[in-house]
Amino acid sequence: MKFSRQVTFLLALAATVNEATAQTASIKLNPSIESKINVMLKQMTLQEKVGQMAQVAIDVVGKVDYSKQTFTIDPDKLSDVVVNYKVGSILNTPPGILLTAEQWNQVLSDIQNAAQKTKLKIPVLYGLDDIHGVNYAAGTTLFPQEIGQAATWNRQLVYDGAVITAYESRAVGVPWTFSPVVDLGTNPQWPRIWEDYGEDPYLSGELGTQFVKGVQDPLGSKEKLVVSLKHYMAYSDPKSGHDRTDAWIPENYLREYHLPPFAATVKAGARTVMVNSALINGVPTHINKRILTDILKNELRFTGFVVTDWQDIENIYRRDKVAKTIKDAVRLSINAGIDMAMIPYDYKQFCTDLIALVKEGKVLQTRIDDAVRRILRVKYELDLFNRPTTFLKDYPNFGSAQFQKAAFNTAAESITLLRNTNNTLPLPTGAKILVTGPNANSMRCLNGGWTYTWQGDRTDEIAQQYNTILEAVLNKFGKEKVNYVQGVAYKQRAPYFQDSIVNIDAAVQAAANADYVLLCIGENSYTETPGNLEDLSLSDNQIALANALLKTGKPVIMILNEGRPRIISKIDPLPDAILDIYLPGNYGADALADILAGNIIPSGKLPITYPRHPNSLVGYIHKPSEGEGNPQGGSFAPQFPFGFGLSYSTFDYSNLTINKNSFTANDTATIRVNVKNTGTKDAKEVVQLYISDLQGSFTPDVKRLRGFEKVAIKGAETKTVTFKIPMKQLAFVNPNNKMQLEEGDFKVQVADESITFRVTKTVIF
Ligand code: BGC
Repeated sequence: MKFSRQVTFLLALAATVNEATAQTASIKLNPSIESKINVMLKQMTLQEKVGQMAQVAIDVVGKVDYSKQTFTIDPDKLSDVVVNYKVGSILNTPPGILLTAEQWNQVLSDIQNAAQKTKLKIPVLYGLDDIHGVNYAAGTTLFPQEIGQAATWNRQLVYDGAVITAYESRAVGVPWTFSPVVDLGTNPQWPRIWEDYGEDPYLSGELGTQFVKGVQDPLGSKEKLVVSLKHYMAYSDPKSGHDRTDAWIPENYLREYHLPPFAATVKAGARTVMVNSALINGVPTHINKRILTDILKNELRFTGFVVTDWQDIENIYRRDKVAKTIKDAVRLSINAGIDMAMIPYDYKQFCTDLIALVKEGKVLQTRIDDAVRRILRVKYELDLFNRPTTFLKDYPNFGSAQFQKAAFNTAAESITLLRNTNNTLPLPTGAKILVTGPNANSMRCLNGGWTYTWQGDRTDEIAQQYNTILEAVLNKFGKEKVNYVQGVAYKQRAPYFQDSIVNIDAAVQAAANADYVLLCIGENSYTETPGNLEDLSLSDNQIALANALLKTGKPVIMILNEGRPRIISKIDPLPDAILDIYLPGNYGADALADILAGNIIPSGKLPITYPRHPNSLVGYIHKPSEGEGNPQGGSFAPQFPFGFGLSYSTFDYSNLTINKNSFTANDTATIRVNVKNTGTKDAKEVVQLYISDLQGSFTPDVKRLRGFEKVAIKGAETKTVTFKIPMKQLAFVNPNNKMQLEEGDFKVQVADESITFRVTKTVIF
């Protein structure tokens, strides 16, 4: 009786509180879920609450048998973690092996069965890194890595890929993905630039939004997951270019460039956020209350939960030297706004420390309740209490031909034609082709890191049923027309960037009997700190191979298969045709072969600036300088600009118009442009709209992408593309960290068309 009255009271209370919060929250809170959380929190001991805030790695609760390639849960270890310590989350794949969906189902069932033995039966939230599909299970659909997805500039394809990823993740049994990466790919030295959507804040925010919606909506369905935006924020822009090192970025720049993709995806409803492993301006992000609580939770009204990155509370103590003990690191990070700790091994210490800190009054009970509320909210929203596990048998489309076709389509639209002198491509039928280079016959290179294993180093063995570039070209052009000489090879059991000359002379000789040379170069797979690199130039051996082949006078088609834009300026002169395929995944080579043969017209555009020189790594978003237009003054002259990509067709832009000449802050401009496909074949074009603020009190960026549409245009057809641009989108973040839209002239640029308009009044908001 007493209990039910209490419940009724709490329900009424939750309803009132939530109406107020719901209006400002990043997601609309569900009153019934909020009531359940209130009831649950009342029943929970401190130990149970702290357990919910803990996350351990899967190898803590079981054992890998490498000879059998199996993983077995150890019931005692699992019981200690889930029943004794009440740990609420587990992550990662058993290191070094690849589980099938059925094996994953078993692991997840064992874990949730253990959770059922606890007093409150709170399900465990399992998380995996689905970086380009469900890359940690056998037989799933692997898409191009995010940089390739961004090169499609196609919102629908990113959305479709996200829907498939969510479906296959639930088939495996996992309801939480540590993706999308919405870090800004501004620093090409950084080893994870290929894990993000490129260098532009607007493009990243738009595509990240599609991913979030595709994975999450409608949450609670058995085909949906929660995402984790990462790595909040500025992780991608370390001063050193090396992973997990300090970024030096003032707050107005953080807000101008790094925050918008996170703000857009929080607004799209992202339920969890993972934190930058490194430092910003000398402060470990995991203890940065301004970033985690003031900006994310208060300003953006983020109502999901914040999880650390791998072992990062310990790092605050051991690596960053800002805490005297691990316990102190726990205090600093939880008080800054961390809700869940990816510990990932010493859960006993974390739980003991946090309980002690609460008892000592160093972490407030209200902070713990807030963190646990956020975590429980996600578990209820996923409907994990009613459906803690999901099973392959209920997901008949897992790994289906339809899903594979979607991955193929994304790869096809990502491939970017950077050069095509004398219409070298597409190749004529009957052409004799020499295939060469270290990337020509490798599934590992096509997929990159986060593929079956963390570093992607077992892909050649695991992905044998898919085609390498050599295999796809053989299939497309015929055995009798294709010859293969490797030339240069990546070293086995060596750092990923090391390669050696195998037989450049033999490649040169073979070129004599070919009509075309297909030179496949770039990088081997890597990620995170092992992916650090001291020289962004393409390796000396690969440059030697390229230059030797170019000397033969045969037309060379250079395929760049790489995560980072490796500098190619020492290849001189550049080959007639260059295609950047990034890391296109398991169907990338098939898509490439279709492009080479002319069955598909390329439509990818660079989502990054491709640098020409190692000392000029600045992207297209930059301030004007003395160098502009002055070749001796360090002018901005990248190898290939952001947004660039050729087609086999041609497009003519005309009639750029704007609905008015002058606007105020609350107006939205309607901008139209006509685009004609002047070729005869149907083709796709990415229409990109840039706006420049021509003068301001704060030096404006030379230009900024403010809109884009990918349109399919039939041969000889003209389409009108319309953009709606809210004036407030053109504001900059001033040195006081406020948005400022200034009176003055602005220039709109779409391809070679431009017009100007005026903003009549300055506003700060
Ligand atoms: C990476 C994250 C990843 C996490 C869990 C970390 O080392 O930085 O991107 O989500 O591990 O695997």
